[in-house]
Amino acid sequence: MNYAQILMPQTTVYGKGSLAALSELAPRLGSRALLISDRVMEKLGNVRQAVDLLQGSGISVATYLDVNAEPNDVHVAEALQVLREHESEFIVAIGGGSCIDAAKAVSVVGPNRIHIGDLIRPDQPIERPPLPVIAIPTTAGTGSEMTNVTVIINTATDVKMMIKRPELTPAIAIADPLLTLSVPPNVTAATGVDTLCHAIEAYLSRRAHPMTDHIALCAIKLATENLPIVFEDGGNVAAREAMMLAAMQGGIAFSNASVTLIHGMSRPIGALFHVPHGVSNAMLLPVVLTHSLQYASKRLAEIARFLHPGLASQPDEALADKFVGDMIQLCRQLKIPNPRNWGIDPDQFAQSTDKMATDALASGSPANHPYVPTHEEIRQLYMQAYDYQ
Ligand code: NAD
Repeated sequence: MNYAQILMPQTTVYGKGSLAALSELAPRLGSRALLISDRVMEKLGNVRQAVDLLQGSGISVATYLDVNAEPNDVHVAEALQVLREHESEFIVAIGGGSCIDAAKAVSVVGPNRIHIGDLIRPDQPIERPPLPVIAIPTTAGTGSEMTNVTVIINTATDVKMMIKRPELTPAIAIADPLLTLSVPPNVTAATGVDTLCHAIEAYLSRRAHPMTDHIALCAIKLATENLPIVFEDGGNVAAREAMMLAAMQGGIAFSNASVTLIHGMSRPIGALFHVPHGVSNAMLLPVVLTHSLQYASKRLAEIARFLHPGLASQPDEALADKFVGDMIQLCRQLKIPNPRNWGIDPDQFAQSTDKMATDALASGSPANHPYVPTHEEIRQLYMQAYDYQ
């Protein structure tokens, strides 16, 4: 691609109470909906709320509520069966990135009669248009509501497939920060660092462009200012609202500029050791940013200048050091565990670094990092992250 591009949902509504817009927006997409969610959302009453809004608009609703972990090809196949039996015309996802990603996968596979794993090959055609998706995030977050990406675990190979196609962009995003008030502190921390990683990686990416730069910088500012607040006080509505905005901006930024080394290395940890996505990103953030100081100090310093205009005249190296130091401190404040503290066996982790480095490079994300580390350098970074304090 030799031109800059921004892809995002055709309609995005956000702000406190915006869930109510579902009843107005959904009928534009049809009269039969599949709602994809999980049992936590059911328990919290979010499923009931969404179903009531849909049914209140005369829409027939079938549900698939068994996205009980980060989604895999089995979840996709099960949801697909419900979709076909119900003859749904569109899909509504309410939940974290896991529910939204499952919905996006089903939306493309449904009309095309292909396996989700086929889409990992860039030359796999998508012949029929996907079913439209309304994405309603309840974490802040993956930003999946704004992106052209789905991440699905291939249970046969233990690989977290990062599938990126324009067809995966939701038709409508409804981002209501009130839905995030119930997120517990550990999930708030992990999903918030995921947002930060999206924005930082998008800014460092070789595929960054002026539009993604501005959006990424705004996301970094919102997230660094508000993540410590929502971690301590989950009921702070203004800070939750700011984090929701940061998550959407992080999603737009990385979806159009790409993620890089942190995400490339994070997915294999998630696939092999079942570490939630935000946590595995956060485990890697300190070592990858520290490694990046030697070749990305100019871009890291630009971030610091945006965050601290009063320090703008300081040299790049000092500012880059400050930004990376602040991010490491933030991860400590958020009590992010390292792989050892998470309970991963040291021998098993060490033995897996070969497969993890291979899978990380194969995902393509590290190729967008300002410097593309070798397989051996990536193995070393995994080992440094293992008991990073
Ligand atoms: P998640 O969706 O897996 O949710 C984590 C846990 O939090 C679940 O148990 C969920 O039920 C619970 N939860 C969600 N919202 C809640 C709420 N409001 N209150 C209480 N509990 C709540 O976590 P996630 O980090 O949002 O999503 C992770 C998935 O998204 C991973 O599979 C990751 O690879 C993927 N991802 C996708 C994109 C993309 O652009 N498609 C980007 C980043 C990550």
